[in-house]
Amino acid sequence: MVNIPKGTKDVLPDESYKWHYVEKVVRDVADKYNAKEIRTPTFEHTELFLRGVGDTTDIVNKEMYTFTDKGDRSITLKPEGTAGVARAFIENGLKNSAMPLKMYYITPVFRYERPQAGRLREHHQFGVEFYGSSSADTDAEVILLAYDILTALNLKVKLNINSMGCPKCRAEYNKALREFFADKKDRLCETCLTRLEKNPLRILDCKVDTCKETVKDAPKITDFLCDDCREHFEKLKKLLTAAGLEYTVNPLIVRGLDYYTRTVFEFVTDSLGSQGTVCGGGRYDNLIGQLGGGDTPGVGFGMGLERVLMLMEATGVEIPKENSVDIYFATMGEKAYEKAFALSSALRRKGVKCEIDHMERSVKAQFKYSDKIGAKYVATIGDNELEKGEVALKKMSDGSLETVSLDGFVERF
Ligand code: ATP
Ligand code: MG
Repeated sequence: MVNIPKGTKDVLPDESYKWHYVEKVVRDVADKYNAKEIRTPTFEHTELFLRGVGDTTDIVNKEMYTFTDKGDRSITLKPEGTAGVARAFIENGLKNSAMPLKMYYITPVFRYERPQAGRLREHHQFGVEFYGSSSADTDAEVILLAYDILTALNLKVKLNINSMGCPKCRAEYNKALREFFADKKDRLCETCLTRLEKNPLRILDCKVDTCKETVKDAPKITDFLCDDCREHFEKLKKLLTAAGLEYTVNPLIVRGLDYYTRTVFEFVTDSLGSQGTVCGGGRYDNLIGQLGGGDTPGVGFGMGLERVLMLMEATGVEIPKENSVDIYFATMGEKAYEKAFALSSALRRKGVKCEIDHMERSVKAQFKYSDKIGAKYVATIGDNELEKGEVALKKMSDGSLETVSLDGFVERF
């Protein structure tokens, strides 16, 4: 037997209703903000992610599923959702749309990581991307959108925010970080030593314990913000407070992608161990420019749907089951089966959910099966009923019986 690849998951028929539920909630909330869905390919040219995500990030350095296709092109399975949307925006001239352009997506994401609970090699993200506005209003609205989803799903999470400044303040900050770490190299992991050379900010995102410990006393980006970035951050805080959202400023969050500028944020929980980030995002005012699309600011987030579902499970949030079968047809004899078959197809076309036996079960076994699937009504048709032109209809919730004429049966529902 061939097994499922490591770090991937099947969603089985008995659990897909949970996905439908979460997907419906995220779509409904996105719609309240007038965001529209965008769908982009599962794979892109590798170069898009090198340029978009950044070649000093873990995602690009270690985690991408990259292969050469038969036409000798380097192709990569989406390791995140933003770069593809940015490419589509540029390529389709969406710059000419009415701004702000509010988009959302639900997509599989592929990362070659060490699989563990809440860390998969294929996971799914709901994400939003709001383009065209550099104002902190938009950051606040995007954060609220994520918050509304998590609240609608009955999840309790904490919001952490930070500002990463602009390239101007970041240059100052990187200098300060280099100075700080200069005499602490013995406390940094191998990867962080490279980061110190190439992109010291990335050290703040390291998950190695000694690095995490050392980082605690490092200079804080919030002390290096230029006036414009500080003002932007203050406005965001004011709007979040006005909307009644509690947050913590955590100057150590930088998120795992290089394109962020100014606002970064994450929604975290203590209930999922070290995979506690349910949603992460931020502003990326230079991404479109870096990809050759000119000046278009943007802000967005990615929400890990497996983690959302795990958190619902861990905190005992009930997910409503989808509708069960309305009518199960129990039949006896070939003629009765044919009649019931015709009735069930007519009813389905009318929007009624029906089932009829496919396993040549005995009547008794059919009743048992109808019970198992939780049918609301069982319609019984045998020779007797055919002769009289009737159907015996049983309402399963109270056991009440009703006799309905065969001719009027479809109209009954
Ligand atoms: P982490 O710090 O947990 O590695 P990240 O910084 O890599 O997360 P993002 O790239 O911002 O996360 O992705 C957005 C969201 O997608 C995360 O907050 C998380 O909920 C989810 N996510 C990221 N990687 C995985 C994964 N390998 N398996 C399942 N969910 C994931
Ligand atoms: Mg990661």
